[in-house]
Amino acid sequence: MSSSITLDSQLTYIKGIGPVLGQALASLGIITVKDLIYYAPRRYEDFSNLVEIKDFRPGLISTKLIINNVVGRYVRNGLHITEALGSDETGSVKLIWFNQPYRQKSIKTGVNYYVSGKFELSSRRFSIMNPALELESDFPIVTNAILPVYKVNKNISVNQIRRSIRNVFNQVDQIEDFMPSDLIKKTKIENLTTALRNLHFPESIEDLDKAKYRLSFDEIFSLTLVSLKNRDLLKKNHSSIVEFNSALAQKFVGLLPFKLTNSQREVIWRIYQDLEHDLPMNRLLEGDVGSGKTVVALMAALMVMNKKWQTVFLAPTEVLARQHYETITKLLAQLNLESKVDLLVGSMTKKQKELVKDRLKSNEILLVVGTHALLEEDVKLNNLAFLIVDEQHRFGVEQRKKLQVNSTKIPHLLTLSATPIPRSLALTFFGELSISRLSEKPNETTQVETKVVSETNINSVYDVIKKEMTLGHQVFVVCPLIIKSNIGQSKNDVNSIYNELTRLFPKFRLGLMHGKLPAKEKEAVMRQFVRHELDLIVSTTVIEVGVDVPNATVMAIFNSDSFGLAQLHQLRGRIGRSDLKSYCFFIGDDDITKNERIKSLVKLNNGFELAEIDLKMRGPGAFFGLSQHGLTDLKFVEFSDLSFIRSVKAVAQQFFETGELQKYKQLNNKVNQLSSIKTLD
Ligand code: ADP
Ligand code: MG
Repeated sequence: MSSSITLDSQLTYIKGIGPVLGQALASLGIITVKDLIYYAPRRYEDFSNLVEIKDFRPGLISTKLIINNVVGRYVRNGLHITEALGSDETGSVKLIWFNQPYRQKSIKTGVNYYVSGKFELSSRRFSIMNPALELESDFPIVTNAILPVYKVNKNISVNQIRRSIRNVFNQVDQIEDFMPSDLIKKTKIENLTTALRNLHFPESIEDLDKAKYRLSFDEIFSLTLVSLKNRDLLKKNHSSIVEFNSALAQKFVGLLPFKLTNSQREVIWRIYQDLEHDLPMNRLLEGDVGSGKTVVALMAALMVMNKKWQTVFLAPTEVLARQHYETITKLLAQLNLESKVDLLVGSMTKKQKELVKDRLKSNEILLVVGTHALLEEDVKLNNLAFLIVDEQHRFGVEQRKKLQVNSTKIPHLLTLSATPIPRSLALTFFGELSISRLSEKPNETTQVETKVVSETNINSVYDVIKKEMTLGHQVFVVCPLIIKSNIGQSKNDVNSIYNELTRLFPKFRLGLMHGKLPAKEKEAVMRQFVRHELDLIVSTTVIEVGVDVPNATVMAIFNSDSFGLAQLHQLRGRIGRSDLKSYCFFIGDDDITKNERIKSLVKLNNGFELAEIDLKMRGPGAFFGLSQHGLTDLKFVEFSDLSFIRSVKAVAQQFFETGELQKYKQLNNKVNQLSSIKTLD
């Protein structure tokens, strides 16, 4: 049996893993042999430095003891105490646990345990407080023990996972290494089996470091190959060459009601260069809310229009599409080009849509602003040369595929996003994407007063909300759709907050919006808010995208800690869009005022810096878009280690460019497989 086991075998084929354990593992998402051996420990208990009782000093200690006399009792205020006596050949010591009544039953007396905890004074006597215990018999290696601790759930214990992993390793002793052996030698990385073994059963911290190095090397190496491969595939396509017309650009800039920022100038210049090549542009333009991405995109479209080719400008919602349409027609009117622009959104009548489609078909319209509806309609764009995708939280690839007219030419693609991607992530995930940033904001709007508020002080927020609405200003309240709370009833979900506020502010007009509403209703609520037919809107983060309501002066966000910093910063960008004084409240439980992550929002007003903080504190999963690539399961890369990422990328690049990849079937397959789920090309 064991000879036929591969990495993809179901775990239930492994001796020692029955159906019950198999199901328990599956509840953690561990189905195959590969899932299990790549199940990275969350942390390690280090028992490699054991101290005998006679040598105990106050502080953290690790030791090996036999435990006896386990007694549990309740003392005042429902506090539970478990006490036990631990001993070794040199003496004995008291162990104390607070509020862990299960200890009394779970501890086996008379056998050896590894014990780690704080040795400190308690009721005038030194004891080990709340120690962690591990049965000595559970250890794979008796000496130098560094024990992995895995994330578990109620179906399975850490020890069951350890045992299962050991079982797997006993049977799958030879995992095939997909890295070419030359490369392993050259880069001095460990071979895969050793690395994985040391990940789970390290005998020293150095072993562990080497294992992690190899496994993070793998991650960056394969992702880079995927990027390079995708870039190569893109190169097989062609786009229209859009020549730069300097007189037109100057004329347009001269007619603008403002002066372009230096950032805008630099970015437009880069885009013009891209457009002059037949290599399809694949550029992401990042910039904080209000940094002026729209005009940059429009200037690019202008050159395409000048060639009598067509541009599609996709917005995430109808409200935004209409806003863009209005801004754009106004700006293009000065060049007498407004008749070349039109709008196509879902709520238009069939007749209206047909008219637009006809005019698109005849190439009368050169720039069409629209929503997803545009992709669903059967639109003929025979001269499509350029696609702009605004705030879609995806990178426009699918859209480009859908709009592609013929197989020889694909449109240039420009994606606009207010969500900043930290450098290290950009390098790792978006290697095939050219990225530009608008690093300055044109008219630094009124500073928004930002406060972190605990729910106990929620009335101070309500006071401001009431005052502002009385002044005729508008308010955003944002909360999660549902909150799962393990202590009873959920409360801060969008419905409860809406009900609460309706009760508190009966004289004002309140609206409710969340992602579960049909698109039409969402649009309707948003439109009412834009027209000031609503004073306050309670919403989930669906309002996040760039809608402009200059009269809104308050943003109050419940359960702030459940959101990413960049996202919170984006929400804050919804207010302070006029010279009205504005207020942003980040609300949370009592601890929120001590939450360093959330507090950085008070200090920083720059999306890029905030994104870096989020990456450090929450990891890459915190960034949208990544989950859609099916590549979020990067477990080992330290994204703070930019020089490591760069050096591995360089190795991969050389490997790719010398055509080595084709020679290694296993690695090549792996890259192809990743490439097909990663749809960024
Ligand atoms: P975002 O990057 O968030 O999409 P917009 O493109 O909507 O920002 O621009 C925000 C506002 O700033 C718009 O009203 C736009 O006309 C204005 N704007 C853009 N560039 C400049 C500039 N260089 N100087 C002054 N205002 C500008
Ligand atoms: Mg925008």
